[in-house]
Amino acid sequence: MKQKNFFELNFKDLKNFLIKELAVEEKKVSMRSKQIWQSVYKKGSFEINNLTTFPLELRNKLNRLMSLQRPKIANTQTSNDGTIKWLIKLFDGNEVECVYIPEKTRATLCISSQVGCTLNCKFCHTGTQRLVKNLSYAEIVNQVMIAKEQINDWDEKKKITNIVLMGMGEPFYNYENVKTAVEILKDKEGLNYGPKKITVSTAGIANKIPDAANEIGTYLALSLHAPTDDIREMIMPINKKFKIKDLIKQCKYYSSVVKEKITLEYVMLRDINDSIECAKQLVKLMAQFPCKINLIEFNPWPGVQYLPTERNKIEKFGKVIQEAGYVATIRRSRGQDILGACGQLRTESEKKKNI
Ligand code: SAH
Repeated sequence: MKQKNFFELNFKDLKNFLIKELAVEEKKVSMRSKQIWQSVYKKGSFEINNLTTFPLELRNKLNRLMSLQRPKIANTQTSNDGTIKWLIKLFDGNEVECVYIPEKTRATLCISSQVGCTLNCKFCHTGTQRLVKNLSYAEIVNQVMIAKEQINDWDEKKKITNIVLMGMGEPFYNYENVKTAVEILKDKEGLNYGPKKITVSTAGIANKIPDAANEIGTYLALSLHAPTDDIREMIMPINKKFKIKDLIKQCKYYSSVVKEKITLEYVMLRDINDSIECAKQLVKLMAQFPCKINLIEFNPWPGVQYLPTERNKIEKFGKVIQEAGYVATIRRSRGQDILGACGQLRTESEKKKNI
């Protein structure tokens, strides 16, 4: 019989598996499931033989029927600023990137939700790679497990304090897998990331925002990048489908359910969206729902047609927003030298032709 991969089971599936395949008694199944779950997700133990809370016979049976195999790292790049980018080779041979960004008092792990992307945002490197596939929830969660293993992050006090779904892909075009992955990341018996330690970032798939408010409930970041439909449509084709007013409506709803400000992301593109007029238009938009804005330095990549806005101009832009009473932060770029910064991720995976 083919072994079942542990990571392809959520907690409920795991319980069913133990009942059906290992004939664990109903009254013990919750306890046994918790024992495995905690040992893997809390302690980072990837050997069934170490599961000493299991009687030997059960452990041997489990060893035969279940594997704890994880995808492997195909390449590691470390930036001058300490950022690490891992290229991960999935079991099917596709490759995906995730990025570890340490700061003084916290560290963020940026993970991917798809291999490639359908969106084609003109300033984003991932947009030049066609969508290859949606990641399964196991493949999403395993980026976290692999990173934790690399930096030995299994103490109660976490090294990776925050997780952002801001890597490759559009999380809301892989909604179900992202939802289950977030459930696993949040699980108190396992990885135990609070909902306010996780951020899901969307390019603005407006019709999924209400579902996410009710079912995912993490911080939400919206990649806005323009104050008007005209400008947004030029740089983000998705705006043809979902207009800014749809986004505002759904963000209002999101913040009313989740009770947190939405983070607007705004990549500063020279002479495209960085005028003082744009800043003033943004202020009007920001008045409509609880939000703050993150001004992002544009990270160039080979072949891109845009230039970054000069630093002093970004600061002036931010000031207009701050003086109107809103929070505007400037996100310093990290990991640029290894193409690990926002919008620089891309892998060589290509969609296999249908035969
Ligand atoms: N598809 C989702 C998740 C990707 S998040 C989304 O769009 O939100 C990646 C973030 O980096 C997005 O805000 C994206 O717009 C931004 N980004 C893309 N290319 C960039 C670049 N070259 N420089 C800086 N930020 C970029």
